[in-house]
Amino acid sequence: MIPPAFEYHRPTDLASAIGILTEHGDEARVIAGGHSLIPMMKLRMAEIGHLVDLQSVAELRGITVTADRVTIGAMTTQAELITHDGLAEAAPILREAALQIADPQVRYMGTVGGNVANGDPGNDMPGLMQCLDAQFTLVGPDGSRDVAARDFYHSAYATERADDEILTAISFARPKGGYAYEKQKRKIGDYATAAAAVLITKEGGKVATASVAMTNLSDTPIRSDAAAEALVGTACDDAAVKAAIAAMLGDIDPQQDNRGPIEFKRHVAGIILARAIARAFSRA
Ligand SMILES: Cc1cc2nc3c(=O)[nH]c(=O)nc-3n(C[C@H](O)[C@H](O)[C@H](O)COP(=O)(O)OP(=O)(O)OC[C@H]3O[C@@H](n4cnc5c(N)ncnc54)[C@H](O)[C@@H]3O)c2cc1C
Repeated sequence: MIPPAFEYHRPTDLASAIGILTEHGDEARVIAGGHSLIPMMKLRMAEIGHLVDLQSVAELRGITVTADRVTIGAMTTQAELITHDGLAEAAPILREAALQIADPQVRYMGTVGGNVANGDPGNDMPGLMQCLDAQFTLVGPDGSRDVAARDFYHSAYATERADDEILTAISFARPKGGYAYEKQKRKIGDYATAAAAVLITKEGGKVATASVAMTNLSDTPIRSDAAAEALVGTACDDAAVKAAIAAMLGDIDPQQDNRGPIEFKRHVAGIILARAIARAFSRA
């Protein structure tokens, strides 16, 4: 289907982009890689009078890695996440997750900012960012504010971001220890039936700290503190993994859809989490 007519804007700096959003209110929407928004427009699920293309806003691009922090510009593509050597060394879980998003064509255009701002529970980056305890920087007419990824998602497609705010960057402390992003999908290029992001640090052969977040198993990403707590102080033996899975299952709320019935999704979520825990623990 062809989308309804819209006016196209291509600002070259952030202030102008925010100015256009402010002028046109909820008639205007930014477009990044367009790989979520354009399908929605074609399906006429999104009717937008003014499309504000962020491709020429240079200040939204780039990856900065310091001794203790990683900052990623919102317009960084998923392909750039995969090929950036500094990022692969500082936070390899991003590369592991990005490689499991869609296919190379989508990853060349799709941006990390679009992926987290969209609010689609099927997107892989929101859960990963909750696992990393990332901060999202939002800039609007009244200035800039940081929102924790863990507080950003209200429900499907509803987020903490106001209509006139642009997500400019994502930042997080360099993760320590072992990591894993594990995803079950029906076929290459598909969204997750279930996915798990796990970070683990070890001390004396036991888990010192853990972080767990799940994707596409509720209408928002789900960080499961209870699952993480079940692992701390253990060597991730069977009993600890079972306890973490039981805790995670208490936090998610999957719905039946074309990826399967609820019980199937809960079963897959347990298997995926067990695999992610085993890999993260072995790498820690
Ligand atoms: C065939 C196919 C398979 C896919 N499979 C997966 C998958 O397995 N996993 C996955 O995670 N994703 C998947 N995607 C989605 C893909 O990763 C998208 O590119 C991504 O979700 C959105 O990024 P984008 O840059 O294309 O955003 P756009 O489509 O341009 O925008 C998406 C939404 O975010 C808003 N937005 C974008 N950037 C900003 C910003 N900087 N500030 C504020 N709002 C912003 C837009 O207004 C829009 O509402 C798939 C897409 C396709 C077409």
